[in-house]
Amino acid sequence: MVVEEQGEEACMMAWAAYDALPAPVCALSPDGLILYANRALYDLLGQPSGVLAGSRFTRFEPPGAAGEEGDDTPGLRRLRRTDGTSLWVVEAVSTVPGPAGRPVELHVFTDVTARRQREMELRRHVDAQQRLFDRLPVPVFIKDQRGCYVACNAAFEQYTGLSRTEILNKSSFAVMSPRTAKAHVAQDRQLFARQGQTSYEEAVPLADGSTRMVCLTKASLADEGGGTNGIVGVIHDLAEGLPNEARLEAILEQSPVGVSVSRRDDGRIVFVNTRFAELIGLSRERLIGSRARDYYVDDHQRERVLDRLRTAKSVVNMEVQFRRADGSPFWTLFTVNQAVIQGVPVNLAWIYDYTERRNMEEALRDMASRDPLTGIYNRRSFMELGRQQLARAHRFCEPLAVFVLDVDHFKRINDSYGHATGDDALRMVAGGCQTILREYDILGRLGGEEFVVVLPGATADESRVVAERVRRHIARLPIPGPGGPLNVTCSIGIAGVEGATDTLEKAIHRADLALYRAKREGRNRVIVYDPGM
Ligand code: GH3
Ligand code: MG
Ligand code: MG
Repeated sequence: MVVEEQGEEACMMAWAAYDALPAPVCALSPDGLILYANRALYDLLGQPSGVLAGSRFTRFEPPGAAGEEGDDTPGLRRLRRTDGTSLWVVEAVSTVPGPAGRPVELHVFTDVTARRQREMELRRHVDAQQRLFDRLPVPVFIKDQRGCYVACNAAFEQYTGLSRTEILNKSSFAVMSPRTAKAHVAQDRQLFARQGQTSYEEAVPLADGSTRMVCLTKASLADEGGGTNGIVGVIHDLAEGLPNEARLEAILEQSPVGVSVSRRDDGRIVFVNTRFAELIGLSRERLIGSRARDYYVDDHQRERVLDRLRTAKSVVNMEVQFRRADGSPFWTLFTVNQAVIQGVPVNLAWIYDYTERRNMEEALRDMASRDPLTGIYNRRSFMELGRQQLARAHRFCEPLAVFVLDVDHFKRINDSYGHATGDDALRMVAGGCQTILREYDILGRLGGEEFVVVLPGATADESRVVAERVRRHIARLPIPGPGGPLNVTCSIGIAGVEGATDTLEKAIHRADLALYRAKREGRNRVIVYDPGM
């Protein structure tokens, strides 16, 4: 109130009291002219006393000094001394009534130059460290004891696809999928509990949807008291971490498929994996330099492979038999591709041991075609094989005969000695037939106690001789019964193929008519069909 009524002189006198203040102070007119500056301000700016009044305060501001980057301290200002050096002040401004009651700005300054220099030094230091950190080509991060990221480098930003501001002060859960985060946090927890170092591999889903295998190495950071107050971690990408050749070889070594590489010019093997060596039963050293052709069992199969390679340039899953070192053959699914490795044209071959599968398939095929009681062909496969033989006989105008065999009074055996003895008898009859028949005769069970035989190349009369031998052999078979061995007899009807249009069904029907005659004539006999029947 008192100041308001003062004139200019009185005002100056009142301001002169500020000369005793250690803080620099000045009064500015609304258009920026210095009306008064106290001693502390003269000292701060390095000016001889009395020269400031009437000059513009902005002359002490270096050009472009306003709003120094990276510091938003309110009222922070950079000034320039007369000797050209810079200083930093924080200013507080208030508007007060001046001479004749006109408003003036009272500026009070605090010299913060020393503090500011220390801060800038620290920042430069931190920036230099971060730059160094960012130069590291591997992702690195630091977490505090809450598990939040407190530092990371540019490689880590790139790896996560997130910027530093999105990462810092966040936990793993904010940065990656819950599943991956959970795995990492579990590892961190262990490290906090026991300190030291840990390394583990983890499949990491990437932003583009693919998955990468990475190896994380983490170490606990100790505080002064020896506890853990953070973790530093480094991530190695396994896909890039190992040299290609070593990785490829490691993969090949674990392959359950045998792999070989052979030169196309001389067929010599230049590489095999362990599985290939195991399959052949020779050491890798013995195999390398040997020729691929030495391991084929069948020259025709080898020709087929070469032919396919010439025409289609590759072989895919061909069934090929190879020979082990001990001479035993084994079946494989064989795949070959052509390639050029280091300028050398080669065949890359994959062999998959197929023996067991093939044996199983054969057994299954066999089971489907056999009669379970006797092991001979069932009706379906007998008819199929019989028709093939008949077609062949027609084609080459060769004879073929069929005979049908029926056990005599078989019902009685079942009735007198039981079904199990009946079964034994049927098995022995089938076995007895096989003993007498030639390898290329086809024996089948038509059903019940009725058997049928196709004899390729035999006329009806020729097959009568065979049928007689079968009949006699069966009659002598000692069938094991509950009270000692017993015998069975059988009747046989024979028919030969008649003309180019004859069918297996018709021939069997005629043989049946002959069999019927044999039964009527007293059983235990062989009758050849004749058209009068
Ligand atoms: P025939 O001399 O006229 O041929 O008289 P048979 O008793 O042999 O003829 P029949 O057709 O009357 O009887 C055949 C018997 O064979 C009837 C059936 O119970 C028996 N049988 C059929 N299949 C089997 C089998 O798999 N096991 C056993 N144990 N018996 C069977
Ligand atoms: Mg019978
Ligand atoms: Mg019968």
